[in-house]
Amino acid sequence: MKALRKLVADEARLSLEDVAPASLPPGHVRVAVAACGVCGTDLHIRDGGYASSTPVTLGHEVGGTVDELGAGVEGSWLGAQVALETFYSVCGTCDFCRDGRPNLCRQRKSIGSGVDGGFAESVVVPASNLHLLPQGLDPRFGALCEPLACVCQSLLDPARVQSGDRVLITGPGAMGLLAGQVAASLGGAVTLAGTPSDTERLSVGTSLGMTAALSSELGGEFDVVIDCSGAGPAMALGLEMLRPGGRYVQIGQTDRAVSVRLALLSFKELELSGGFASTPRSWRRAITLLEDGAVRFEPIVTEIAPLDEWERVFARTESADGVKFLLAPTQGLSA
Ligand SMILES: [Zn+2]
Ligand SMILES: [Zn+2]
Repeated sequence: MKALRKLVADEARLSLEDVAPASLPPGHVRVAVAACGVCGTDLHIRDGGYASSTPVTLGHEVGGTVDELGAGVEGSWLGAQVALETFYSVCGTCDFCRDGRPNLCRQRKSIGSGVDGGFAESVVVPASNLHLLPQGLDPRFGALCEPLACVCQSLLDPARVQSGDRVLITGPGAMGLLAGQVAASLGGAVTLAGTPSDTERLSVGTSLGMTAALSSELGGEFDVVIDCSGAGPAMALGLEMLRPGGRYVQIGQTDRAVSVRLALLSFKELELSGGFASTPRSWRRAITLLEDGAVRFEPIVTEIAPLDEWERVFARTESADGVKFLLAPTQGLSA
């Protein structure tokens, strides 16, 4: 089968390769990939800013159908439409694992970086990592469950937004549009801010009930700022826009150092927090938000493209042209 892979650790390039489907260990399942989301992390993995074990198939945001069961897996999973937790394995014995924080395990291996991921016709994962998709959800959109679970990890445990809070989201990409919906589900009044090049992304936010604004024209104060851009100027602005006693949450990622006025934490007694990846608990919450209709995926998806158009789709993701792109590995293949 075709798979989008990074072959050499210190070469910033990916290629579409022919690979044999992986074997199926006990307790694991094979999932036919309906679609896999292209994410900023994939660009970091390509460029070497995010560690990977090469050669490896990328793709960690997977929606699909279980089509083969390893020994010992409950038979009812066969044919189920699912999303997959990102972890392939954790050590299970370190302090973080024992404290229910497997996302922080130093031995953690994730699909799409540590082991082969979802930019391929199928992916093999532990059955314990499966989550059933809500009835009626197109399994391709199941790919958005992973970024939603990451947003839930940062915003819900504990709740970073209280009912009535004025919430500013900086960075109107897919993470910002998901974070805005989660913040609204907690009762926040959400303003989504971006730059003049974000017009299309901001209009998606408006269609989801958020107030859209240009960062340069923001006024007033906010109770909570959630940065989903990972861009230094937005992070600096966010700290400035918080009221005294406000809360700042970092979701956007960057591998560069940025310049912000951290003394504002002291002057304004700000709270600062972040979240890394996801836990089984944040996944359950993500699925519940979807089932309740509190979060919608379709408006966020700009295009679902066949796997062999990955270069074009990666380029559009890199230049922030559109919002979220999914690659559908079996789309366009003859049966
Ligand atoms: Zn991702
Ligand atoms: Zn561990």
